[in-house]
Amino acid sequence: MQQDPSTKIFDLLQFGEYGDVNPSVCDSATFTFMQAKTMLDTFQGDAEGCFLYSRHWNPSNKYLADALSAMEGTESAWVTASGMAAITCSILQICNSGDHVVCSLTTYGGTFAFLFNYVKKFNIDVTFVDITNLDLVEQAIRPNTKMIYTESMTNPLLQISDIPALARIANDNNIKLVVDNTFTPMIIAPYRLGAHVVVYSMTKFINGKNDCVAGAICASREFIDSLSDVNAGTAMLLGPALDPLRSSSILKNMHTLHIRMKQHSKNALYLAEKFREYGMKINYPGLPGNKGHQKLAEMMNPEFGFGGLIAIDMVTADRAAKLMEMMEKAGVGYLAVSLGYFKTLFSNSGKSTSSEVPEEIQREMGLSEGLVRFSVGLDNDIENSWQKIKTCLEQL
Ligand code: PLP
Repeated sequence: MQQDPSTKIFDLLQFGEYGDVNPSVCDSATFTFMQAKTMLDTFQGDAEGCFLYSRHWNPSNKYLADALSAMEGTESAWVTASGMAAITCSILQICNSGDHVVCSLTTYGGTFAFLFNYVKKFNIDVTFVDITNLDLVEQAIRPNTKMIYTESMTNPLLQISDIPALARIANDNNIKLVVDNTFTPMIIAPYRLGAHVVVYSMTKFINGKNDCVAGAICASREFIDSLSDVNAGTAMLLGPALDPLRSSSILKNMHTLHIRMKQHSKNALYLAEKFREYGMKINYPGLPGNKGHQKLAEMMNPEFGFGGLIAIDMVTADRAAKLMEMMEKAGVGYLAVSLGYFKTLFSNSGKSTSSEVPEEIQREMGLSEGLVRFSVGLDNDIENSWQKIKTCLEQL
């Protein structure tokens, strides 16, 4: 059977200078040179294999970046201190003052806030559209548009972006398609589907341990080199470099990502079916009949399933809060933001990770005030977890 391209990280031989199977951790901020000229060449980007300063590059960060490029099929990658750093650096690298961005109306609240509030100070204009309506996307493009920005599976409505179609629109207009693939690593490979830049919050599934925040940018060598350019690179100059100790631990966690994604997806599908049978309003792109199901099925690497995120509608914020408190007491998981953790996490998106989105826009995008988003964990006995949830629903 042909190997799934997303598991190409297993083809990499990455070991340390003593043959240590986990590459040595390089915890140095700066690097020495035996000849002054080599330092000069490194500053100018002409000294292959040399490191200068860890805000620019660090060997441990390079190991992780190489694993990410292998997974995404990109020429290069850069790792950042948070997902937001990956997103903001990519946007600011592509856009200049006076430019315009077309962005999915449903995006993670932090990204929405950056594009809705923050970029105004740089005179960058943004049009938010329903990203599943390709006519609206095309109509929104202007002569000064530089980028279409979306999430493969949007947060929190779990809409599916048609990446090949969006890439065609981007290419026809000579602009970039930037895709946040935080919800669906390995399941969707946006770069292979035509996206120009793929960003991640590695805080979520890629690391999977909830012990740090981290991010990544995967793209062409030209784009990554421009980001880390000492004179004009947004990443180099704003400075959100990932700590190499963290890179080293994330790299080890990445090697179990394929197994974790399968289990997250399996458990999420199980719960989604149970919620549906119970008569709940349930949103899970893995269910036939879901608006994004067919598109996701066409784009995905099927062996990893439909992802670990599901959303139910409790109609009111009060009922959502009550259910979440009961579920936490019953041991279903934690009432917490974030996702991709080995334990189940649940939160009311409108009051948490999408609270940056004004309430009238939440309603416009179809975000119910009672929406509870679950990041389904790696539970070994998911039927047991369902029984606990069912008891909470019955007692509500
Ligand atoms: N992208 C998505 C889809 C997210 O859900 C989040 C955080 O929740 C981010 C980006 C931001 O990542 P970080 O918190 O690592 O900065």
